[in-house]
Amino acid sequence: MNEESQDFAKLDEFIELFVKPNAKEWDSKNDIPKTILEELGRRNLLGIPILKNYHGGGGKFNDVLQVISKIAKESGALANIVGVHTLSSFCCINEYGTEYQKENFLKDMALGKKLGTVAITETNAGSDVSSIDTVVIKNPTENGWILNGEKTFITNGNKSDIIIVLAKVREDGKDVGDASFIVNTKQKGFEVSEVIDSLGQRGSGLSRIKFNNLNIDEKSMIGKIGDGSKIMLKAIKYDRLVAAIAAISLAKRSLEIAEGHLNERKQFGRPMSKFQALRFEIAKMHTMIYASELMIADSLEELNENSNINTSSAKVFSTDTANYICNKSMHLLGSHSYYKNTVLERLINDVKGYAIAGGTSEIQNVIIAKEILK
Ligand SMILES: Cc1cc2nc3c(=O)[nH]c(=O)nc-3n(C[C@H](O)[C@H](O)[C@H](O)COP(=O)(O)OP(=O)(O)OC[C@H]3O[C@@H](n4cnc5c(N)ncnc54)[C@H](O)[C@@H]3O)c2cc1C
Repeated sequence: MNEESQDFAKLDEFIELFVKPNAKEWDSKNDIPKTILEELGRRNLLGIPILKNYHGGGGKFNDVLQVISKIAKESGALANIVGVHTLSSFCCINEYGTEYQKENFLKDMALGKKLGTVAITETNAGSDVSSIDTVVIKNPTENGWILNGEKTFITNGNKSDIIIVLAKVREDGKDVGDASFIVNTKQKGFEVSEVIDSLGQRGSGLSRIKFNNLNIDEKSMIGKIGDGSKIMLKAIKYDRLVAAIAAISLAKRSLEIAEGHLNERKQFGRPMSKFQALRFEIAKMHTMIYASELMIADSLEELNENSNINTSSAKVFSTDTANYICNKSMHLLGSHSYYKNTVLERLINDVKGYAIAGGTSEIQNVIIAKEILK
């Protein structure tokens, strides 16, 4: 897929028709209707990296990142939903799943008939994934498992049809390792206990979800016991790139607003765009965006390697850059940005979420340093 392709034309049309007119309302209502996600599916934009024999587009990861980038410019929240569906949850099944799982889940995910997300975070297990309490035990009456626990801050947790869940496996009262499971949210025992009234990414369905004695059949474990964190860490690797590209897209939009303002507004008898201090600031921000985009593009190669240094570097640099640019853009408008319900307010709040999702900046630095230092 390239810029000229039909799929990008369909995406541009989708953004004009559905995203631009509605993004503000989604933010104020904290809800993106499921019909919007179905519309994305109908336009073949939810299965780009999925192989053609599973109804996908057979496209490249870079194509998905371009889709996320274009959507993020208008809605940071929708971009994250598309990212977790198209990359994180997809990768768990595609790279580690059985043929049965690919047939039964990837095909519907590619067509947008089933939306997916990934649930790792718990109230007491954020950066420290190893301290999760969600647990499965063997089902005593039939093959399979019984799941109990609670996850929080799950993107699209309220609308996903399948959720890849990280849980500890307990056998005879002892924890024997962690594992990842495909959970069908239509099943008895699944509950959305809260849609979080978040500061940003409003409408992305950030939710607290509960599993109450939920039955999982034996075919729904991805990989084997002990593989859980490994599979989730790969999903998070994709999440980092989603966060990086989306954050930079939000930063570009905020910079465009600031540049428009500097060109229009006059102070001290001339356009503000003529003040050298401000020109240098604009030049610096463009340089930072260019560097971020190069890092993101370069780090794609690392997706199939064991190393994480480049994806983590791209994530921390891009989201820190985007935080800086959104803040600075707002400042460049002076009091003219100091209103509620503006696009700049939405951008700055959405960017803050991307600096946390997929692992915070500090955690990226922990990962980078671990690969460099003893
Ligand atoms: C918009 C958004 C979407 C999300 N989507 C999902 C999702 O789909 N699925 C999912 O499972 N989770 C999701 N999350 C949760 C996210 O992954 C966690 O919030 C994140 O990993 C951090 O965990 P925490 O919030 O508990 O912070 P904590 O771990 O409590 O950290 C708090 C602060 O302490 C710092 N800190 C922690 N440990 C260290 C350390 N060792 N050294 C230095 N500093 C440290 C952190 O950087 C942070 O600044 C999402 C979060 C957001 C904001």
